[in-house]
Amino acid sequence: MSAVVVVGAQWGDEGKGKVVDLYAPYADLVVRYAGGANAGHTLVVGGEKLILHLIPSGILHEQTRCVVGQGTVIDPAVFLKEIEALDERGVSTEGRLLVSQRAHVVLPHHKLIDELRENKSGGAIGTTKRGIGPCYEDKVARRGVRMGDLLDAARLKSKLDANLECWRAVAEDLGGNLPSAQEIAAQYADLGNALRAYIGDAAKIVRASIQGDEKILLEGAQGTMLDIDNGTYPFVTSSNAVAGGACAGAGIGPTDIGSAIGIAKAYTTRVGGGPFPTELEDETGQQLRDAGAEYGSTTGRPRRCGWLDLVALRHAVAVNGLSEIAITKLDVLTVLPELKVCVAYELDGERLEYPPYERVEDVKPIYETLEGWDEELPSCRSREDLPPAAQRYIARIEQGVGCKVGVVSVGPDRQDTADLSDPFAS
Ligand code: GDP
Repeated sequence: MSAVVVVGAQWGDEGKGKVVDLYAPYADLVVRYAGGANAGHTLVVGGEKLILHLIPSGILHEQTRCVVGQGTVIDPAVFLKEIEALDERGVSTEGRLLVSQRAHVVLPHHKLIDELRENKSGGAIGTTKRGIGPCYEDKVARRGVRMGDLLDAARLKSKLDANLECWRAVAEDLGGNLPSAQEIAAQYADLGNALRAYIGDAAKIVRASIQGDEKILLEGAQGTMLDIDNGTYPFVTSSNAVAGGACAGAGIGPTDIGSAIGIAKAYTTRVGGGPFPTELEDETGQQLRDAGAEYGSTTGRPRRCGWLDLVALRHAVAVNGLSEIAITKLDVLTVLPELKVCVAYELDGERLEYPPYERVEDVKPIYETLEGWDEELPSCRSREDLPPAAQRYIARIEQGVGCKVGVVSVGPDRQDTADLSDPFAS
C-alpha cells in the first residue's frame, strides 16, 4: 500500500500546497482528487511565488508525474493557462500531466449562475464564483459535460444543447442571459484541441502506478470542515474533500491507501460565510491576518482568523482516519505573547468534544491558555530546535486530538520546515 492522502484538516488554506511540494520528491505520482479552480495552492520556491489552482503541486519536481482525477471539476481555460505559466518558467508538463476524461467541465454559464446567485444572496455562502457548485450540480443531475466530450465536437454540441436547456429558466429568474450552445461549443472544442495531449484515462495511470508499486500522493483540496458530508453544511464546498474522497476521485479502492496526513494551521482561518467558533474579530485576529498574510490566493478576500480549534481538528482526525498531522504557519504565532486553544465546545450547558451536526454557530469555545514565545522560528529544522513554549504548543495539539504531529512548517519557503521526513516510510 503505497498511496498517501494529504488532506486539509480545517477550513482550507492550511498550506497543503507547500506540504505536497515537500512530499512530492518522495512520490512517483501526485493525484489531485477533488474540487476545482476554487482551490489555490501557493508555492514559494527560492522566494518566487506560484499559485496553482488545478495542476497538482508536485508538478515542479521533474521526476514526478501528475494526474488530475475524475473527482475534480475543470475549467479548461484555467488548466491551459497553468500549463503555459509553468512552461514560461521552464517547467515542462508534456508527458507528465494528465487530466481524467471523466472529470466534469466548468462551463461559462456555471460561473455566471454562481455569480448571479452570490450577488442575489448578498454573498451569504461566500463561494469563489468559479462555477464549481453549478458544475457539481450538473454532475449529480447527470447532465454534465466531461473533459472527454471536449474532444468530440458533435457530442459536445449535443450535450451542451441539453445542458443549457436546464439552466435557461434559472438564469432568467436571476436576471441573466445564457450564452448560446454554439458559442460555447466552438470555444470549448478549441480548448479541447489545445489540451488533447493532456486528456485521457487518468484512473488507468493511477492503477498502473499502484500495480507497479509506485509511491502515490493523493492531494486534497479545500478542507475537512468544508466537505459536503462532514463539514459545516450548508456552508461547504460541493465535493468530498476528505480522505475518503480520494478513492472515488482518483479511481482507486480504500485498500490501496496506506495513510492519511492532515494539514492544519497552528491557528484557524476561514473564507466566506458559515460558523467559526474560535473567530477573533478583534486586534488579535487582525494581528494573525497581517502576520500570516491571510488573504485568499484565489479571490484576494481577507480570511477570517481565530484560535486553533482542537474540536474541529479532532473531527478531522476521526473522519479522515489521520495517521499524522502536519502543522503549518507556527511562525505566525510568534507575534502573540499568549495563545489560546479551543479544547471543547459548550452548547446548552453541555460539553462537546466533537462538532454538533447543526447549530455550530451557537457553540461557545472552551479555551485553554498557553504561553507564547518571542523567538523567530524559520531556521528551526526539528522539533528540538523550537523554543520550549512552541514545543509545548505542539505537544498540546497531539494530546488534544490523539494524533501525532510530524512536519512543522515555520515559514512559507520550502526550507523553512522542521522534521520533514519521507511520508511513505511508515
Ligand atoms: P493551500 O490551499 O492549503 O495550499 O493554502 P494556501 O496556499 O491558500 O495558503 C497557504 C499560505 O500560507 C500560502 O501563502 C503559503 O505560502 C503560506 N505558508 C505555508 N506554510 C507557511 C508557514 O509555515 N509559514 C508562513 N508564514 N506561511 C506559510
